[in-house]
Amino acid sequence: MAGERYAQVHAQSIEERSSFWAEQARRIHWERPFEQVLDYSRPPFAHWFKGGLTNLAYNAIDRHLATRADQDALVYVSTETGQTHRYTYAQLYREVNRLAGMLTGLGVGQGDRVLIYMPMVPEAIFAMLATVRLGAVHSVVFGGFAASSLAARIDDARPRVILTADAGMRMGKVIPLKPLLDEALTLSDAPEAKVIVLDRGLAPDQPYKPGRDHDYARLRAEHMNAEVPCTWVESGHPSYILYTSGTTGRPKGVQRDTGGYAVALASSMEYIYCARPGDAWFCTSDIGWVVGHSYIVYAPLINGSTTILYEGLPTRPDPGIWWKLVQDYRVTGMFSSPTAVRVLKKQDPSWLTRYDLSSLRYLFLAGEPLDQPTSDWIASGIGVPVIDNYWQTETGWPILTAQPGIEDTPRKLGSPSFATYGYQLEIRDEASGQALGADQKGVLCIVPPMPPGCMSTIWGDDKRFVSTYFSTFEGDPVYTTFDWATRDEEGYYFILGRTDDVINVAGHRLGTREIEEAVQTHPNIAECAVVGVADALKGQVPVAFAVVKDIEAIADAARRGAHEAEVQKAVDRHIGAIGRPARVHFVTGLPKTRSGKLLRRSIQALAEGRDPGDLTTIEDPSALEQIRQALG
Ligand code: AMP
Repeated sequence: MAGERYAQVHAQSIEERSSFWAEQARRIHWERPFEQVLDYSRPPFAHWFKGGLTNLAYNAIDRHLATRADQDALVYVSTETGQTHRYTYAQLYREVNRLAGMLTGLGVGQGDRVLIYMPMVPEAIFAMLATVRLGAVHSVVFGGFAASSLAARIDDARPRVILTADAGMRMGKVIPLKPLLDEALTLSDAPEAKVIVLDRGLAPDQPYKPGRDHDYARLRAEHMNAEVPCTWVESGHPSYILYTSGTTGRPKGVQRDTGGYAVALASSMEYIYCARPGDAWFCTSDIGWVVGHSYIVYAPLINGSTTILYEGLPTRPDPGIWWKLVQDYRVTGMFSSPTAVRVLKKQDPSWLTRYDLSSLRYLFLAGEPLDQPTSDWIASGIGVPVIDNYWQTETGWPILTAQPGIEDTPRKLGSPSFATYGYQLEIRDEASGQALGADQKGVLCIVPPMPPGCMSTIWGDDKRFVSTYFSTFEGDPVYTTFDWATRDEEGYYFILGRTDDVINVAGHRLGTREIEEAVQTHPNIAECAVVGVADALKGQVPVAFAVVKDIEAIADAARRGAHEAEVQKAVDRHIGAIGRPARVHFVTGLPKTRSGKLLRRSIQALAEGRDPGDLTTIEDPSALEQIRQALG
C-alpha cells in the first residue's frame, strides 16, 4: 500500500507544485535566483526556474571544493586494460578546466555542440563536464554505434568539436573507434568539425587528418594551467542532446535543460536513492545511455558522492568483479539493469557471497521489465532490497519507483511501485482517451506540465516534440509514454510493454524501423519486417523477415549458409552490433492489411508461438503462412 508519508509528499509535489520545487531548488547553487518556479505559458513546454542562472559543472564540481577537495569524485576501473585511476574533486576540477581550455581553443562557446564518441574512460566524463562548463551542449553517442548511425547524429547536432579515442576494448578485444568516426565524417553533410583523439595506445598508427584532428594529450599539455570560468546559463538553456529511437528510422534528439535537470537529480539522490554526500555510488550503465548521463555522471557528482566508472564486463576477470568493487570502495548504492543480473545469474551463485557487501544498502534496476525470478535471485543472493525503476530517456529520471528516502513502502514483485513525486500519472484508454481505474489496461500518460528534469523539446524540432508525445488524444495534450500499464487497487503500477514499434534489447531501446532500414541496405533485400521476440536473457531480441529480390541468389547463398550472416553484417555496419537481428528469415512477401499496413503484431505473435489475433483485414493470407513456415 502506498504509505502515508509518500502519499503526502506526492500530493504536495502536484498540488503545491511551486512551493515544493522551490524548496527542492535550494539543493543546488544559483548564481542568480530564478524569478518563477515554473513558466507554463506555452504548453506543453515547461520552463522550470525561469530567470535563474546556474551551471551544471559548477554544481557537480566547484561547489564541493570547499568541503570535499580531497575526497574521491571519480574512481575509474577498467578490467579491459587493467587500469585504475582515482580523481579527487580537486583533480576532477583541474582536468575539466584543462579540457574546457582545449575546447575554448578550438572555438567552442555557449550553445555550440560537442559530440562525444568515446569508450568508458574518465576523459569522456571530463568532456561532458567541460562542455556544460562552457554553456555548450554535449551529445554523447554510444561507442557501439556504427558509422552511419553516428553520421545521422552528427548531421542533426552539427557539432563544432568531436571527441573520440583510438579504440574501445571489449572482452580483451580492441575495437577501433577513430576509423568509424572518419567514415561517419565522410558520410555526414554537416560542416566539418574539429576532432580530439584520445590515444589510449590500443590501436596505434591511425592516420590523423592535418588541421582537423588533434591529439588529446598534446592539447592537454598546452592547457595544463587553464582556469576556465563557468558560463552562467539561464535554467532553460540546453545542457545536452541524447538521441533515442522511436517509430521512425530517424532518431530523436532528446534535449535537456540545465536548472530543472540539476534540481531533479539532486532531489532524487536523497528521496529515491538514499545516497548521502561522501558515499560511494556505482552505476554499471554506459555513459552513452540516459542512465549513464544521470546516474554515472551528474546526480552522484551534484550530490558530492564518489562515482565509480567501470569499463568491462560483469563476468571478467570473474563474475565476482562487481561485488569486489562494492567491497573495495564501500559502495552504498548500486544501479544496474535486469539483463546484467540475468548474465550473472548464469554463473556460480557463490560469487555473490565471496565479498563483504555490508556497505551496500540498495540495488536499483532500470531500463526494462524486471522479472520476478531475477529479482528474487539477486535480492536473496546479496541480501539487500532490490528496487525496480521505470523511466525513459525522455524523462531523465524515474517516472515510477519506490522512494525509500521518503518512505520505505513495501514492494510488490513485478511492479516498479508508485509515481515518483512530481509526476502526475494517468492510465488512459487507447481509443477513447478516458482515464481508467484500477486493474484496467491502458496507455501510461503523464499529465503535463512534466516535472523538472524531463526533456524540454526535441533538438531543433518543437513541432515533432508536440506531435510525437502530446498528440495521441485529440484536443487533450497529455504526454504519452507509449507503454501499456495497469495500476492495482493498492496503487502499484505494472508495465506491460510498448504500444509502438519500439523494442527493448538488453535494456537498450531500438526502433524496429531503424533495423528494417539497415536490413534493406543489403542489395538483395527489397523489404523487411523486424519484430521484437521474447528472449530469456535480453528481454527481447530483434528477428527479421526479409523479402528477397532474387530468389535464386538467396537459395544459393542459403545453401552455403551465408545469407543470414551477410544481412546481419549489413546491420552491424549500419547501426552497430546492438541492432543485429538474432535471426533473419527469408520470405517472398509480408503480411499486410489491405491498406498496406504491416501486420507487425501478428508477425510478432507468431514468432513468439502465440495466436496471431484478428486477421480479417489481411491482404494476402499466404504471406502469413510463409512466416509460419519460415519459423518452422
Ligand atoms: P529508454 O528510453 O532506452 O530508457 O527506454 C525506455 C523504455 O524502456 C520504456 O518506455 C519501457 O518500455 C522500458 N522500461 C524502462 N524501465 C522499465 C522498467 N523498470 N520496467 C519495464 N519497462 C521498462
